[in-house]
Amino acid sequence: MIKAHSLGFPRIGTKRELKWALERYWKNEISQSELAKEGQQIRASSWLQQIQSQLDFITVGDFSWYDHVLDTSALLGVIPKQFDHIAGTEVTLDNYFRMARGRAPTGKDIRACEMTKWFDTNYHYIVPEFDENQQFQISCNKIFNEITEAKQLNHPIKVILLGPVSYLWLGKTKNSDFNKLTLLESLIKTYQHVFLKLADLGITFVQIDEPILTLDLPLAWQNAFQDVYQQFKHCPVKLLLTTYFGGLENNTELACQLPTAGLHIDAVRAPQQLTTILKHLPENKILSIGIVDGRNIWRTNIREAILDLKHLYAKLGDSLWISSSCSLLHSPVDLNHETQLDDEIKRWLAFSVQKQHEIVLIAKGLCNGEESISKELAESDAVVESRKKSTRIHNKAVKSRCENITDAMLNRKHPYAIRQKIQKSQFNLPYFPTTTIGSFPQTADIRKSRQEYKAGKIDESNYHQIIKTHIAYAIQKQIELEIDILVHGEAERNDMVEYFGELLEGFVFTQNGWVQSYGSRCVKPPIIFGDISRPKPMTIEWATYAQSLSAKPVKGMLTGPITILCWSFVRDDQSRFETAKQIALALRDEVTDLVKAGIKVIQIDEPAIREGLPLRTSDWKNYLDQAIYCFRVASCCVDDEIQIHTHMCYSEFNDIINAVSQLDADVITIETSRSDMELLNAFEKFNYPNDIGPGVYDIHSPRIPTTEEIVSLMEKAAQYIPIQQLWVNPDCGLKTRDWPETEFALKNMVEAAQLLRTKYTLNKNSSC
Ligand code: GLN
Ligand code: ZN
Repeated sequence: MIKAHSLGFPRIGTKRELKWALERYWKNEISQSELAKEGQQIRASSWLQQIQSQLDFITVGDFSWYDHVLDTSALLGVIPKQFDHIAGTEVTLDNYFRMARGRAPTGKDIRACEMTKWFDTNYHYIVPEFDENQQFQISCNKIFNEITEAKQLNHPIKVILLGPVSYLWLGKTKNSDFNKLTLLESLIKTYQHVFLKLADLGITFVQIDEPILTLDLPLAWQNAFQDVYQQFKHCPVKLLLTTYFGGLENNTELACQLPTAGLHIDAVRAPQQLTTILKHLPENKILSIGIVDGRNIWRTNIREAILDLKHLYAKLGDSLWISSSCSLLHSPVDLNHETQLDDEIKRWLAFSVQKQHEIVLIAKGLCNGEESISKELAESDAVVESRKKSTRIHNKAVKSRCENITDAMLNRKHPYAIRQKIQKSQFNLPYFPTTTIGSFPQTADIRKSRQEYKAGKIDESNYHQIIKTHIAYAIQKQIELEIDILVHGEAERNDMVEYFGELLEGFVFTQNGWVQSYGSRCVKPPIIFGDISRPKPMTIEWATYAQSLSAKPVKGMLTGPITILCWSFVRDDQSRFETAKQIALALRDEVTDLVKAGIKVIQIDEPAIREGLPLRTSDWKNYLDQAIYCFRVASCCVDDEIQIHTHMCYSEFNDIINAVSQLDADVITIETSRSDMELLNAFEKFNYPNDIGPGVYDIHSPRIPTTEEIVSLMEKAAQYIPIQQLWVNPDCGLKTRDWPETEFALKNMVEAAQLLRTKYTLNKNSSC
């Protein structure tokens, strides 16, 4: 029989039970054993679900209290010195949490380990830190204990481990810059101990995740795979080498030839790789095909999947396994908890629970023939038909507009050098103009009013009135602070994508479609199901009201096309680019309306532009060209005197700075302070042509930046960028801060700008 398995189940619980339990534990409201019980319940219910779905394995190793990379660090004893871990002892749960977030119910507060994005997902992992003399030693029994727990269910178990090569790749060297690969030998030994323990517990199959096999790997790292897996050849468990998030491409031969019992490939992202894989796959090796999309929410076309796999089954027989493309960690948990989605669209969707059923169905259909699943096949066919025929997906007018985008629509009337002069004189801006990124504190009051409005307890006009009082407050504060370009504060927005999604056609929202972002933080991406259009203006009321309160320019605030795309579940029946173009056109109309309403500065945020970058560098150009195209569609509909801003944050921008400049935004505000203006290195070689505001303080911290430190950061910036191009602003929006902090910080920021103006004007005068 073909085996049906999933690469991992979400760990957050159907109603985010993990989040609630963790946050209560961190606040000292429940004990560690109560927390442990919650975890046990989440695992028990996932396993039960997997057994009911008739998957061939239940998975162990996918549950985590915070992050599976951090779990691997705990398992291997990779605990940075400052956490005072005694080598050879069990890592305590509180120490684990301190590594993740700097704070736990016991132990002193400490700087947490770094966190970064997991490949091209919105999931974040805790970055392992390696010492030059790093020792590896089993230091956490969590996974072994969970196996014992799972064994009580008497169902075959598959254990999931992050593989050693990917683990090493994802970590960073601490204190000195040494070659991480020198640590391999000791790492291999520790993994071998882990395998022994797993075998002792009766485990046969281990899914060993090596997702970096879908990246461009340097030769030394390709060789590392050989070294490692040759040494695992005789290990007492069967290894399923697991790859996802893309195709193996130039690592195909390597991955196929490594002496593991099986190989898993992502056939959703890279279906074309099958042919070459079959060429290189040794006989009798298990080939697990990830055919059910773990990264999106659409139901699988079961008939098509079976058809695609038939020839494979004929060739491979029982060596063929069926699975999800990647871990279901990236999908919401259970569609059955959606009670408010409209029936037509709900029928098109599958969350993790449903996806596991699909995996089993495909396996059954292949083994026992389509007749054995005729009822389910008929339903799947009906869903395919329903999506095809639905009148809600396609909008001719939108499609024809997309086809008729002309080159003229992609360019401003004049180059920036000319626009800059017009804008500077119009706004009469000083050197080092000050601004903020958009949001001001989302106070408990604001959130309460929004909840009451959504629950129907207050009506629309009442709600709008309340929002306007918050806008007025924000404007007043900025006037007092003497900021140059103002913002309305985004009080009306719960989330920068959700807000626009709710006002655009083509989106739906779930109640419980949560996906883990990091630790207890989850996001609920909107679902784009159809062509996108803008039935009516989305921000004009707020922007014009705010502008009416001040003679200084107030920015109109929009979320950019790529960010809306990246933070949503997208259609699988058209390209991402097509969808982004539709969003861009809707935004273009909003920009036009804002200008008509008298708004002179418009900011289009694109914080997600970097994270959408493909994993393979060969795909970068195409992606960036499309991102630039969409931004320009959205923004290039205004006269020279209208100032377009954009904003980006919390990513490395050095390698895409050239593309960023091609957006041709008049001003970019960009996060830099956390990395001590590391971004500026990019400007050594590259003359950024337009205005730029490198963020001067980290908005994630309650700490108030001093005037001196802001001045010194800006002076650093001034060494790389002509002062005529520099703006002064925080790293990002201020919605997570409170008002007193915000005022103190901005007061220092404005004071710093004033000092800089005096200093640089004096210098300028003296050099004249
Ligand atoms: N304008 C948004 C805000 O200020 C930008 C948020 C972001 O970059 N993530 O909140
Ligand atoms: Zn930001």
